[in-house]
Amino acid sequence: MSSPVSPVELRSDTFTRPTSPMMVAMMEAEVGDNVWGEDPSVEALEVHTAAMFGKEAGLYCPSGTMSNQVSLVAHLRPGESVICADTAHIHLYEGGGISANAGASTQLLRSDRGRFTATQVDEAIYPDDPHVPISTVVAIEDTANRGGGAIWDTREVGAIAELCRRRGLKFHLDGARVMNRLVATGECPQQYGSHFDSISICLSKGLGAPMGSVLLGSKDFIHQAERIRKRMGGGMRQAGYMAAAGLYALVNHVDRLKEDHRHATQLAKALLAHSDVVEVLPTETNIVLFRPAEGELRRWIDTLAEHGVKAAPLGPWIRFVTHLGVSQQDIARVVMVLEQL
Ligand SMILES: *Cc1c(COP(=O)(O)O)cnc(C)c1O
Repeated sequence: MSSPVSPVELRSDTFTRPTSPMMVAMMEAEVGDNVWGEDPSVEALEVHTAAMFGKEAGLYCPSGTMSNQVSLVAHLRPGESVICADTAHIHLYEGGGISANAGASTQLLRSDRGRFTATQVDEAIYPDDPHVPISTVVAIEDTANRGGGAIWDTREVGAIAELCRRRGLKFHLDGARVMNRLVATGECPQQYGSHFDSISICLSKGLGAPMGSVLLGSKDFIHQAERIRKRMGGGMRQAGYMAAAGLYALVNHVDRLKEDHRHATQLAKALLAHSDVVEVLPTETNIVLFRPAEGELRRWIDTLAEHGVKAAPLGPWIRFVTHLGVSQQDIARVVMVLEQL
């Protein structure tokens, strides 16, 4: 069977495959039973990530969803509520986990590409009144997926952190793509991490590991989180093979995220010049969200697919996501296909 040029995968940064050196790191990993606390590779990943963000401890979880959910279950009691964006992953894309796992409700804030302000949070925090739930957690997503990889304003995050401390709320970061943010802004992870009580970081997005997320927080918080992870079925035995891939990604694949951002900007530029594109969201990291002309969505997706470019519709939008499986040649190819559309 002759194989034409392989398709350009722009549907998500979760489609990455381990590189050869990552596979070597996995094969050479020292492992043990992590539920018994005896897997040195898992421990190395947790220690490395916690130190990176200036937190006391880390917990390796099989997915970003579990890492977010474990964190929320640890922070919340049934009947309490989480303040988050109307488009937040924890609200929209985790199978209703906040209610199912934590028995909690959400207070959704209208957002600017996934971002809201400290003033909005201040107004949303419920008063101490038996009629209403207790607002316990504020959760932000940085970068914001549905916002087209939008980056939060550092000062606004600082103001929300300050408000949370003053009002006694916990502050959670869904940092599935926080490394994209930090590479784009050039900020120090420790400095940024200091704002949050808990942080979830995905290793399986643009960083290119096959699976896993790390949850970060204080020693006490992670001790509690470990029990919740076990209860949810996320206690894994020789998980070190996978953790080694995650650690390899954190050491070797962070700087190169710049390339993904450059590729996304190139795609956005081509789309902005296209007469059939109605809107392109500002492209700040590795996600490009754009809207083709009314009624053109299906034709766009199909034509792209015919030319070997895989893209996903998101309501009336099309989403392109760049990652380590997309090369400069691939981007040039996509730009050529766009010119024919
Ligand atoms: C991908 C993602 C997650 C976690 O997803 P999993 O597929 O469960 O690893 C969480 N939050 C955001 C914003 C994401 O993009």
